[in-house]
Amino acid sequence: MRLQDKVVLITGSGSGIGKSTALLFAREGAKVVVNDLNAEHGNETVNEIESAGGEAVFIQADVTDPSSVASMVEQIIAKYGRIDVLFNNAGISGVGLLHEIEPEAWDKVMNVNIRGVFLPSKYVLPHMIEKRNGSIINMSSCIAEIGLARRASYATTKGAVLALTKSMQVDYAQYNIRVNALLPGTILTPFVENYLKTSYDNPAEAIAGLKKRQLSEELGRPEDVAQAALFLASDDSKFVMGSPLYVDGGVVFGKNA
Ligand code: NAD
Repeated sequence: MRLQDKVVLITGSGSGIGKSTALLFAREGAKVVVNDLNAEHGNETVNEIESAGGEAVFIQADVTDPSSVASMVEQIIAKYGRIDVLFNNAGISGVGLLHEIEPEAWDKVMNVNIRGVFLPSKYVLPHMIEKRNGSIINMSSCIAEIGLARRASYATTKGAVLALTKSMQVDYAQYNIRVNALLPGTILTPFVENYLKTSYDNPAEAIAGLKKRQLSEELGRPEDVAQAALFLASDDSKFVMGSPLYVDGGVVFGKNA
């Protein structure tokens, strides 16, 4: 029970990595606030946690909308009185050559992936400062460290999140708040499955290509990232501050780096 009684907010936890993390954190004793835009998926996560004997509540909110995020944080404080862990996980993909990206599509990726980290942090931090305690985990990606074809907008956001993480850590260390980033490689989630289906005629070939750029023979699973998030959320990582944690099967430091 590495998160016994900790109050945890995970954005975008109706699916993929966020959902897997919500299930794991609940098994580790956390009271999990499941956030997503998609109410059906968010409620499914809560149902799965409750069926397994854990504690969770769903709050629908758009991480790009200040009033929506502020209201979510107020509801959590009213119910639990504190937020110990914030996992800024919600994100969307952006694909295409830069000169082909429509400005609206560019703005949407920036909004969800960067503003969607800024806003929950902005509204949660005052409560962590008050308690002089907190762990914030920001979802970056190994793409922040390497060049990948046709991902200019997405890579921009994940590089920004990594830079933001370091600056946040410097500012909030004095309040006993740790801020770290996760940098996953390719993790098989609905996000990636959808991308493979819509971007490639032969998804199996695409998967073989993805495997070639890592050292591990398998693609990552959401549970692999959830375990890394658990480490950053728990006191086991109390001396880990402002760090990028790679969960990428050896992409960044492997043979193709
Ligand atoms: P996913 O699509 O399975 O889940 C993302 C969730 O975020 C969805 O449930 C979606 O409804 C929610 N969401 C989207 N916009 C939102 C908004 N405005 N407000 C609230 N919720 C919103 O994706 P995933 O693969 O689990 O990815 C989760 C995070 O991990 C993303 O930030 C992604 O960029 C990052 N990531 C994923 C991979 C990968 O290979 N899957 C690799 C590196 C980083």
